[in-house]
Amino acid sequence: MEKNVVEIWEDCLKIIKDNINYQSFKTWFLPIKPLKLKDNVLTIQVPSQFFYEWMEEHYIGLLKKTIKKELGNEGRLEYSIIMDNSENNAEPYSINIPTGEKKAVLNPSVSMPIDLNRGSSKEIPNPFIIPGLKKIKVNSQLIDSYSFNNFVEGDCNRLARSAGYAVANNPGKTAFNPLLLYSNTGLGKTHLSHAIGLQVKENFPDKTALYVTTDQFTNQFIDSVKNNNQNDFIHFYQMIDILIIDDIHNLGGKEKTQDVFFHIFNHLHQKSNQIILTSDKPPVEMKGIEPRLLSRFKWGLSADLQVPDLETRIAILHKKLYNDGIEIPKEVVEYLAHCINTNIRELEGALISLLAQSSLNKKTITLELAKQMIDKFVKNTSREISIDYIQKVVCDYFNIPIEMIHSKTRKREIVQARQLSMYFSKKHTKASLASIGLHCGNKDHATVLHACRTVNNLVETDKQFRIFVEELDKKIKL
Ligand code: ADP
Ligand code: MG
Repeated sequence: MEKNVVEIWEDCLKIIKDNINYQSFKTWFLPIKPLKLKDNVLTIQVPSQFFYEWMEEHYIGLLKKTIKKELGNEGRLEYSIIMDNSENNAEPYSINIPTGEKKAVLNPSVSMPIDLNRGSSKEIPNPFIIPGLKKIKVNSQLIDSYSFNNFVEGDCNRLARSAGYAVANNPGKTAFNPLLLYSNTGLGKTHLSHAIGLQVKENFPDKTALYVTTDQFTNQFIDSVKNNNQNDFIHFYQMIDILIIDDIHNLGGKEKTQDVFFHIFNHLHQKSNQIILTSDKPPVEMKGIEPRLLSRFKWGLSADLQVPDLETRIAILHKKLYNDGIEIPKEVVEYLAHCINTNIRELEGALISLLAQSSLNKKTITLELAKQMIDKFVKNTSREISIDYIQKVVCDYFNIPIEMIHSKTRKREIVQARQLSMYFSKKHTKASLASIGLHCGNKDHATVLHACRTVNNLVETDKQFRIFVEELDKKIKL
């Protein structure tokens, strides 16, 4: 039986997947929809003009080979491009790409050419333009210290950071438009969004970048309504090359502002200007935002920032101290990073209080001082003990390198440290047995149970061991 278009495309994907890395596969090939197969011409739908150009530039060779394999020498590929997602939506355009050896050419019979400036052919008079000056002057409101350089990379932020970096090097021209960064408060959304803006300004001094909070944007809009110059407001925003709007969830329930933002968004997106948004929630969980806006938020990439792990928190503190030229004992830094583990802003706050206390009272910064301060500082904020922290305490205590926990070694002292880490993780965290096992040397849940039993038995029968466990318990709860 003949294969249908979906099956053919699935087979193509298998070949493609074997030939490129997974991230590229996911970014560029998974969003494609196979549309039809007729007379050996396979039509695939790609989400945008940019997408199509990218495929042509980077994957044409691979696509040719793949099509040849699947459809034979006569096989051809046709793209259908979703040109414009705004309301005056036309039928998707199609371009034929012969996959033979000839250089790819656009088929003249098709309803192209593509008008990159579609939607806005005539110049809009702009009230903000000073006559004689080509570009308007915009105070970008970017804060210099929120740079990529000062943004510590960790597992918690890798995707968002690298997407941000890609956007900064190619604003409006990656698939990440809009780029939506989301996380709980204090985890670096604002910092990262500034970093992108700063980097764009460095790379492309001619582009206008603007950072605004959603509240500023809303208030400006309300003012413009009062002063009856809404059009100026809209035109101003429509001229920005890289628009960063922070805390977009604050648009919730503000219908008029959403409406005006909708038009600005469409205009910028059509011109391939870059939009960067931040939010405290992913689009699916945002409340009070119109569906048409929410769906637009999902066009590009939504990337989250997670709570940083202990190592990253320590690195962040070190970076701040280094930038400020301050030295404090290593164990104090580690102590702070351990105590304050869910919010980077609070972590910085604790460091600042500590520095202030020491300079005001002329005390040297010691672990003791840090403990007193933290006691007051985080009395009421709940602190979560993590598996990685427990491992660190246990390994420090027995003076063994933390990597050994994750190794396969069966040396007695390592096995014991591993078992103790499992035991304390069971006792002090909410993690499941399976997850504890995974984090302690890739073991299964039965091994964790066995470890807990072994420790309990030893505590009852071995006095020295009981002392270890009690001391460790104190250190962990510190
Ligand atoms: P959010 O906007 O998510 O509430 P912010 O961007 O305001 O968080 O970050 C809070 C503080 O933490 C800022 O001072 C910021 O510089 C700092 N910060 C956050 N993430 C990092 C990081 N990865 N490296 C260095 N500092 C960070
Ligand atoms: Mg913020």
